[in-house]
Amino acid sequence: MCNCILLGPPGAGKGTQAKILTKRFGIPQISTGDILRAAVKEQTPMGIQAKKFMDEGALVPDSVVIGIVEERLVKPDCSSGFILDGFPRNVEQADALKQVLLRTGKSIEHVISISVDKEELLSRITGRRTCRSCGKGYHIAFDPPEVPDRCGECGGELYQRDDDREETIRKRLEVYEEQTAPLITYYGQESLLRNVQGTGSIEDIQSEIVGIVEGKGRNT
Ligand code: AMP
Repeated sequence: MCNCILLGPPGAGKGTQAKILTKRFGIPQISTGDILRAAVKEQTPMGIQAKKFMDEGALVPDSVVIGIVEERLVKPDCSSGFILDGFPRNVEQADALKQVLLRTGKSIEHVISISVDKEELLSRITGRRTCRSCGKGYHIAFDPPEVPDRCGECGGELYQRDDDREETIRKRLEVYEEQTAPLITYYGQESLLRNVQGTGSIEDIQSEIVGIVEGKGRNT
């Protein structure tokens, strides 16, 4: 069983690592950011409400994201594990998650905190591009597509997320420091926290995370 939380600032690689874990362990990635972006795209009432917060780099209200996670965690595909990516983002959400888990008879086994310094985060995020059709991620400097602005997998158009522009990212990093970083202490006090350095190759970071999930390695 692997019920885990990936914690870290925007651009730390939570989404990339979650996708690899999903394939390896056959458990779903629950990314509140992806769920919210899909709702914005479909212009659902929730998406319309969330968009203004996301465009500003602010957090979407707790009631909205807690509702999303609560609904998602009771789906059958979460019965043998799940990876929370981008949730919880503050202490209120972490407290609410505890209640949801209590009600559903589940618990978190690992909280993996991925750290990367601020300048590196800025350069990673400003260069990030995503395929509109299949969602594959690229980076204009570190992982560029063969044909500019076109996905190498499906030929779809690559775009930059509105909230990946520099002004918004600075705000998102501030929000992370103020609201999300306190969760490092929160989960540290519950002895669930493991720290992983998020710089280096994707494969090396992945094997460290897999080691943690499989119960190898030491507590930090
Ligand atoms: P992400 O893709 O995780 O970086 O999230 C993109 C944006 O979605 C964030 O900047 C927030 O506006 C919103 N968001 C995602 N997850 C949460 C959350 N757990 N709580 C509040 N807002 C969230």
